[in-house]
Amino acid sequence: VKYSITKEIQFDAGHRVPLHESKCKNPHGHRYRVVAEVEGELQAEGSSTDMVLDFGDLKTIMQTLIHDKYDHSFIVWTGDSLWSTLQAWKESNSFAKIVPVDFHPTAEQLANHFFQIVSSNLFGDLKLKSLTVWETPTSSATVEEGN
Ligand SMILES: [Zn+2]
Repeated sequence: VKYSITKEIQFDAGHRVPLHESKCKNPHGHRYRVVAEVEGELQAEGSSTDMVLDFGDLKTIMQTLIHDKYDHSFIVWTGDSLWSTLQAWKESNSFAKIVPVDFHPTAEQLANHFFQIVSSNLFGDLKLKSLTVWETPTSSATVEEGN
């Protein structure tokens, strides 16, 4: 049998999709939900015996590397015409939390980015099977292992 577990975190952030022809071009915010699904065998010893992975360990990875970096931030593509303005504002305001990324911050690209982050921080034989980013309560994008 194969086992997999999921963990979800949530954070609030702003973004815009500059190439979009409609409302997504305007700076706006979402409560993002990020769900990681990890596949593996049951551990045979230690405090995680008969678990794929301690939920708390997966939460720590997602919380420190995703939530803490992105929560209450504005995510901006470095090719966006807004970037230079936001960069200057960030440099003169210590509270500014602007997260530059080298991709269009769509749900799909954020899912791919978060997939790489979580995947590279798993240990042993654990595999990140999928990672889903929910941008609204009814809209999500999923990246699966191997893609
Ligand atoms: Zn959006």
